[in-house]
Amino acid sequence: MSFSNFKLTKQLQNALEEQGIETPSPIQEKAIPIILSGKDVVGIAQTGTGKTLAYLLPILRNLKYSDQRYPRVLIIVPTRELAVQVVQEIDKLTSYISIRTLHVFGGTNINTQKEKVQNGSDILVATPGRLYDLTMTGVLRLKDIKTLVIDECDEMMNLGFRPQLERILELLPTKRQSLMFSATSSEIVEEVVDQYFKDTERIIVAPSGTPLEQIDQLAYKAPNYHTKLNLLTFLLASPSVQRCFVFVRTKAMADRLHEAIGKEFPEQYGVIHSNKSQNYRLRMVDEMRSNELKGLIATDVVARGIDIDDVTHVFNFDIPEQVEQYIHRIGRTGRKELRGSAISFYTPKEEVVFRHIEAYMDKKVERFPLPAEVEYSERLLPEEEEVNIHDAPTLLGKNVVRVSSDQNHQKKEQPKRNIKPKERAMKNKRRNKRKRR
Ligand code: AMP
Repeated sequence: MSFSNFKLTKQLQNALEEQGIETPSPIQEKAIPIILSGKDVVGIAQTGTGKTLAYLLPILRNLKYSDQRYPRVLIIVPTRELAVQVVQEIDKLTSYISIRTLHVFGGTNINTQKEKVQNGSDILVATPGRLYDLTMTGVLRLKDIKTLVIDECDEMMNLGFRPQLERILELLPTKRQSLMFSATSSEIVEEVVDQYFKDTERIIVAPSGTPLEQIDQLAYKAPNYHTKLNLLTFLLASPSVQRCFVFVRTKAMADRLHEAIGKEFPEQYGVIHSNKSQNYRLRMVDEMRSNELKGLIATDVVARGIDIDDVTHVFNFDIPEQVEQYIHRIGRTGRKELRGSAISFYTPKEEVVFRHIEAYMDKKVERFPLPAEVEYSERLLPEEEEVNIHDAPTLLGKNVVRVSSDQNHQKKEQPKRNIKPKERAMKNKRRNKRKRR
């Protein structure tokens, strides 16, 4: 199978050739002909398998030149980073075509965006909150939308955008083609499809929740933050770790870990989370892309969609709250058929959630004892000292498991217990030995 089977335009063929893209990926092979036939499509495919081109190529093939003001194609994505990335993909494909692409997302000046909307566009890539705000001001009209794409719909739901998304869907012309792509599906996503899609063709390239085969998954049990930090520092020093993401659940933890890792590896790691400005976040991603940074410490805001080549490792410094999030996190590695490693650290408290993740993937992750070189620490963060009833993991819905976490805990860390070095070495040795048994 080659792209010429889809009767793409010469310009699109050339753009693909320039990028060295020769053979359609499985999702492209299945989705492109159906999208070209005009049907509504729901595609479940793992991240990194080419789903963006799977919808962009047929859309661009059918989009004719027009100088009308309001967009004809609407692509809704959950995060700003993904919006920028989708636009970059469009730009790469349209260097020989006269297509006006516009992206709008929150955290930037709405008035500048209003001006751009008024200047006219063919394709609009938007996050749901800002899209909704722009339609409410009356500046943006969606009456000409012929094709709608909802990318990473379940993440949009996780982020709480269902009301905005539904209001936008109500505003769209009923005569349109609707496409949805995601690495995982969920009950809420299916509800949206049932309500707003018509005569839908479902394409499942990998069952929802299947991790990529080329990702080696392993895990270490580590009892607390400081032991996890020692373990991470040890692993990051390995020459095999060339580019990586370190995922954490909270912004406070991302900042704390960034500071600690910065002491061991100055200027090699950046941090990215939703409290950072838009420019800062984009700069971090660019610096990682251009190899100025070796890795990023990130909250789940970037777990979705971000496509950075050759990420050798993903570290889960903690276990994500939502099972699906694990799949998205580890999908930052093992892209484009390269091998990658996903290494998770879990405390006894997180073990329950981790087992749910294994059950969800239907895959056992290989566990390893703490390496002998890694110091076992007894030092606890204040939040780790607080053991209360909320520490019990609770099942929320079908695939969601939440572990209580105090995101904004700002208390000072406890001072280190005064253990003599020799005593500590003995203690570590004894403990590591026990763990290996
Ligand atoms: P996505 O899954 O859409 O995030 O795509 C991941 C990456 O794969 C992007 O950098 C694409 O440019 C690249 N890509 C998409 N389709 C193909 C293909 N058929 N062959 C090689 N690379 C591709």
